[in-house]
Amino acid sequence: MACRDNEELQRFVEEAKKVAKDGKVASYIPALAKADQTDLSVAVYHVSNTCHSAGDVDKRFTLQSISKVLALAFVLSEEGPKKVFQFVGQEPTGDPFNSMIKLETASPNKPLNPMINAGALAVTSLIRGATPQDQLNRLIGFIRELANDKSITYCKETAASEFETSMINRAMCYYMKQYHIIRGNVEEVMDVYTKQCAIMMNSLDLAKIACVFSLDGRHPETGKQILSKDVARICKTFMVTCGMYNASGEFAINIGIPAKSGVSGGIMGAAPYDFGIGIFGPALDEKGNSIAGIKLLELMSEKYEMSIF
Ligand code: GLU
Repeated sequence: MACRDNEELQRFVEEAKKVAKDGKVASYIPALAKADQTDLSVAVYHVSNTCHSAGDVDKRFTLQSISKVLALAFVLSEEGPKKVFQFVGQEPTGDPFNSMIKLETASPNKPLNPMINAGALAVTSLIRGATPQDQLNRLIGFIRELANDKSITYCKETAASEFETSMINRAMCYYMKQYHIIRGNVEEVMDVYTKQCAIMMNSLDLAKIACVFSLDGRHPETGKQILSKDVARICKTFMVTCGMYNASGEFAINIGIPAKSGVSGGIMGAAPYDFGIGIFGPALDEKGNSIAGIKLLELMSEKYEMSIF
C-alpha cells in the first residue's frame, strides 16, 4: 500500500529534502551539473488510475539510466528474450554502472545485465530501424505510449553534452564490437543511446509508466495491454536485482519494490498490482541514487508496507 494523502506526501518530501545537502548532483555529464540540488518531487500513481503527488511535479528531468528499463522492454517485445539474452546476461555485477572490468573477466564476454551501461548499450544497438533517427523515433513512440503522453521528447542539450564527453561508454562499445556483441556503427549506437538517456519527463509521467509495470503491462489509464506480462516480469526482476546500482541488495531489504534509478536523480518504482512511483531529486548519494529520493521511500515504507518480500 502507498500514501493516498497529498498532505502527508508533502510532509515526507519536506523531511526527506533535509538530506539533499549531503548529496551531490552528477557532473560527469556537464549538462546535469546545472540541476538544483534541493529539488524533490514525487508522484504515486495507483492502479485504480488515481494519483497523489507532492513537490514540483511539473518539473521535467532526463531519464538517464531509467531509460534502460524502457529500452529493454521495447527490445524484448520486438525480439523476444531468447535473442536479447544472446547479447546481454541476467546477473547482477556488484560494480558501478559504468564499470567495464567484468566485460573482460566474465565469460562469455557479453555484459552481465541490461541495467549497467555496457548491457544497455548492447540493448540499444538491437533497436530496429533503418537509421539512428528511426531507432530513436521508434523508442520515443513506445515511451509516449507507456506514458500516454504524445509530447514526450528528449533534451538536445543533455544528449549532446553526454555524446561529446562519454568516452568510457564509447570504449565499452568498441570492446563489445570486437566480440560481435555490438554489430552496428559505434558512433550511431552512441548517438541513439545518449538521446535515449536524455528523454525527458516529469515525475507524474514516470509514476504512470511505472504503474504499467505494476499492472503486468496494462496501462492504468487506457486499459491497453502495452507490454506482455512476460516482458513486464523480466523488467521488474532486473529492477529488483540490479536497478539501484550496487545498492540494489540494500534497497531490496529496506524498501522492497522493483525500482530503477538514474544519475539525473530520478527513481521509478513499481509495486505490483498496487502503484507506480516517480521521484525526482537530483542530489545523489555515493552509489549514484537520489539521496533524498531514497530517504523519501524509507519514510514511506516506515509508514506503509511496501515491500513485496
Ligand atoms: N547516460 C548515463 C551514462 O551512460 C546514464 C547513467 C545512469 O543514469 O546510471 O553514463
